[in-house]
Amino acid sequence: MDLARPCWFCEKNPLDDEASLPVDMYYVTNVEYNPNFDVSKRTTYRTAKAMVPRCMHCRSVHEHESSLGCGGSAIGGVIGIIGGIAYQVAFMTGEPGSIDLTPAVLGGAIGAGIGTGISYLVGLIQRPSGVKPGGARHDHPDVKRMISRGWLPGESP
Ligand SMILES: [Zn+2]
Repeated sequence: MDLARPCWFCEKNPLDDEASLPVDMYYVTNVEYNPNFDVSKRTTYRTAKAMVPRCMHCRSVHEHESSLGCGGSAIGGVIGIIGGIAYQVAFMTGEPGSIDLTPAVLGGAIGAGIGTGISYLVGLIQRPSGVKPGGARHDHPDVKRMISRGWLPGESP
């Protein structure tokens, strides 16, 4: 336990090394353009990981939120596809005798979006007060310091 560096997300519990959140960062060292008036270019970069201190409790909160998001988009997508098929059957869109998949595809995409939105809101309501969302990792001083030196969040350019 390192009490000097508490969990970044609740600022209350001591950090747990196992629960700390790695943030992938990359730094572009060189960009080589092809001389033959080509758009292709070769980018050389370095990668590093910033570790954002996190406690076990906050890890479980974040894991719950991400599983909620996946579940929400899957359920919403299925409902949307069923809705789209029902719409197609009811209004007979498309050529007579053929199956028009557009309403089902559109319904699935819209449903997945709505489902993700709803589960995000549920996660927001359920999140214990004083716990920052997982996205707040980019606000951590170590990550911010790297960004100010030209590093960017992500695995590669
Ligand atoms: Zn915490």
